[in-house]
Amino acid sequence: MSLIRCVVALSLAASLSSTFAQANELVVYSSRQEHLIQPVFDLYTEQTGVKISYITDGEAPLMARLRAEGANTPADLFITVDAGNLWQAEQMGLLRPVKSDLIETNIPAQYRAESGEWTGLSLRARTVAYSTERVDPATLSTYEALADSSWHGRLCLRTSKKVYNQSLTATLIETLGTEGAAEVIRGWVGNLTTPVFSDDTALLQAINAGQCDVGIVNTYYFGRLQNADPELKVALFWPNQEDRGVHVNISGAGVTRHAKQPDEAIKLLEWMTGPEAQAIFAGVNQEFPANPAVAPSEEVAAWGEFKADTINVEVAGRRQPEAIMLMDREGWN
Ligand code: FE
Repeated sequence: MSLIRCVVALSLAASLSSTFAQANELVVYSSRQEHLIQPVFDLYTEQTGVKISYITDGEAPLMARLRAEGANTPADLFITVDAGNLWQAEQMGLLRPVKSDLIETNIPAQYRAESGEWTGLSLRARTVAYSTERVDPATLSTYEALADSSWHGRLCLRTSKKVYNQSLTATLIETLGTEGAAEVIRGWVGNLTTPVFSDDTALLQAINAGQCDVGIVNTYYFGRLQNADPELKVALFWPNQEDRGVHVNISGAGVTRHAKQPDEAIKLLEWMTGPEAQAIFAGVNQEFPANPAVAPSEEVAAWGEFKADTINVEVAGRRQPEAIMLMDREGWN
């Protein structure tokens, strides 16, 4: 090979490898914590050679950052929890519509945006937790029934500032109407026995310690606490099994509006809805896979099967402003 030819070949190789390096690195902004995303990304990198770098932060700062960065954002994918947050990201114009047959096959429509801008990746039920020492589960039935006077001075709730409760309230409004939902919330607030908690774990500990008998929490917080304390005197109850079913929410993701590598980002997102990734993504946080073909982990399955509400989780976003106002009116702090 002549010297000139050799130089040409080398520079071509160099330019190819720089293209390759770019195409093989994705940037993710995630409000889901590092230890919950890293195992999934590691497997993807192992299988595809695509590197994933990410930053984690609260959903509000990440959305503000995406908005401020605009077209200059390095982020290709945004991961967060709760349909209420994903819906907000969509409203803020931070995401792009994705049309993917694979995602539509893997994830039921009720856990995706109709626009294709985000999809659920794991499911969490927001359900009733009760003291196994002071509550006969036969006396439990529905979310609405926790507003009855029989629960006066026995109920604990988390703050209404948390999106989980805003989403729950939004679905109550959708199902029961504004006045019906207001009546329920009024009853709950009247039954409170302690000030609202800042997180679900503190609420579960309060039930365990005897401060209250019953509350409403996300299932994975119960799972974590049960792992830490197998003697926990708290159990989960699945409400509304005779009617609409348990309130279920998602963690999920969307490709950013200004993704530098939208096609690569879609491939990652599609892969995350598949069996291998689903088992890990849900398993590490004791959640349910959003892909119904994938079984939950053994410890999650041990909580028992239940009927889940089939309402589209988009309602959580659409009715979020109403929910916040209603909770405020009824004195839910
Ligand atoms: Fe959480």
